[in-house]
Order: sequence, then structure tokens, then C-alpha cells
Amino acid sequence: MSNLDRQAVPSLCGGRGFVAAEPVRELLSPRRVQLGESTEVRRLLPNLGRRMIGAWAFVDHYGPDDITDEPGMQVPPHPHMGLQTVSWLHDGEVLHRDSIGSLQTIRPRELGLMTSGRAISHSEESPRHHARFLHGAQLWVALPDAHREVTPHFQHHANLPVVTAPGLTATVILGALDGAVSPGTTYTPIIGADLALAAGADVRLPLVTDFEYGVLSMSGEVHVDGVPLTPGSMLYLGCGRDELPLRAESDAGIMLLGGEPFEEELIMWWNFIGRSQQEIERAREDWMSGSRFGEVKGYDGAPLPAPTMPATPLKARGRVR
Ligand code: MN
Repeated sequence: MSNLDRQAVPSLCGGRGFVAAEPVRELLSPRRVQLGESTEVRRLLPNLGRRMIGAWAFVDHYGPDDITDEPGMQVPPHPHMGLQTVSWLHDGEVLHRDSIGSLQTIRPRELGLMTSGRAISHSEESPRHHARFLHGAQLWVALPDAHREVTPHFQHHANLPVVTAPGLTATVILGALDGAVSPGTTYTPIIGADLALAAGADVRLPLVTDFEYGVLSMSGEVHVDGVPLTPGSMLYLGCGRDELPLRAESDAGIMLLGGEPFEEELIMWWNFIGRSQQEIERAREDWMSGSRFGEVKGYDGAPLPAPTMPATPLKARGRVR
């Protein structure tokens, strides 16, 4: 998906300064953002007090929305730089097209992973004939400096590894969980997992002590390390944990996001992650002039224009504003 916010505000993130080295329980409230005419999303990252969790730099949760008589998701062609996008669905389907020729329908608990490298563009839409409900998350992973010029590529994995325990089915989206490894290409030590919990489940999930973690609630009632979490909110957990207690009051769906704290300082603006104001400005100009980012074929509509750059100069610094 795209950052369709017309008042695109630059976000300065990365650096270790604000990583919680110890376990914490910090509740992140969503910011409601209107995407196009019909879809409202809840933005969890970047958040006022928390910019990143590991290399995870952007998290939108949307739905469940009844789109029976509606077009559903319609995100026109837009560019990306310096990041990977992860499309993750609990209900419905998304048709992905990109400038390197990919055309892929993504269904619930299948991984759509697009690595932008220096430049890619894509569109995302609900197919004309779609399921009644649309419910999912759109996430971005920042690419480290050593790999951010990588050749753009798109991966679709319909059969991800699954870890089970009584009352728990964990699907490994990126990285590894309890020995199960996702086939998705990663560029930093990271974990993304989808956790389906049955009512009454009481489990302790194994974690890596030097990763920082957060949990996004998508449905149901769940207690994460004792904290009740409602759908559309996120709990930041810090570092220094070797396990995470989870208790489900009802059937629940949550996402575990984590990774090694991201050391490099970043500038995130609109759909770009860069290291300097000049680099972001150049990307914006290239998109607006139709160069570098290629062309998405087959989308019925015009590409998204970039918002205006803010007048105040951007400068990379720490993790909170
Ligand atoms: Mn996008």
C-alpha cells in the first residue's frame, strides 16, 4: 500500500538512542488515516513516540471492512525506495502489479514481499470479484545501507512455515521463530510472525533477547505480557526478553514484529526511505518526471502524484521526534 497522506510529514528514525534495552510495556495508539475515498487505516508505525521496531518502519492495520458493494482497496501506481513492503491479509485478497512485471493475487496468510532497492513502483487493488471482507496489514521494512541498492524483486510465498502449540498456530512471515524459517529474503536480523490464538490459549512464545519486539492486535481479546490489547493497537515490548506470555480470552489474531534495533539513521518521507534530504528530493523528482521507477502496466487509473516536499530541511537523527 502507499502512504496516501496528503500532508506527508517527514519522519526521522533509526539509531539506537531510543531503543528500550529492557523489557517494557508501552501501548501505542493508532492514528487514523484516510486512504483514498473508502478506506480508513490505523497507523501504528511511525508513531508519535516510537518510529521503528527493529527494521520495521511502517505498520498500517485496516479492516475488517465489508466491501460487498464497494471497489475495496484501490491504490494507484506509486513508487518506493529503500524498503521492502509486506502485504499480509486475514480476509480478502489484494491484486499486486509492479514495474518489474509482477502480477500476483495475495490471499490470507500468504506473503507478498516486494523489495524496492533503489526504485520500484506498484499498485494494489481489490480484484473486481472479491470476498465480502477485507482485513489486513501493510508493513514496510527498512533496507540497511549495504543492501538498499539491491535489484528490485517481488516474492510470493503461499506456503509459509508454521509453528504450533496448544491453542497457537504461528505462521512465520519473515525471519525465524522456534526454528521455523521463512523463505522471504531479509537484509537485517528480523522476525515477523502471525499468531492465531484459540480462546483460552495460554502460551509462552520463545524470543531472542537482543531483539526488540512489538505486538499488533488484529482481532479478538488477548493479553500480551499481562496487558489487554484491543484490535488496532500495538504494544511495544523493548529488548531483553527470552519469552513472551500470551493469553487469549477469545479467538484472536495478532502479529509479532521484532528485530535487531536498526542502527542507521533514516529519513522517511511519503513512500521513500533515504539518508539525506537531497536523496529524497531526487526520488520525488524522478517519480514526477517519469524516470527511474518504471511503469505499472494494467492498472485502470493514473499514477499517484507525490505530495509537496516540506520547506523545512530534513536531517536524519534519533528515533523520536
Ligand atoms: Mn506501496
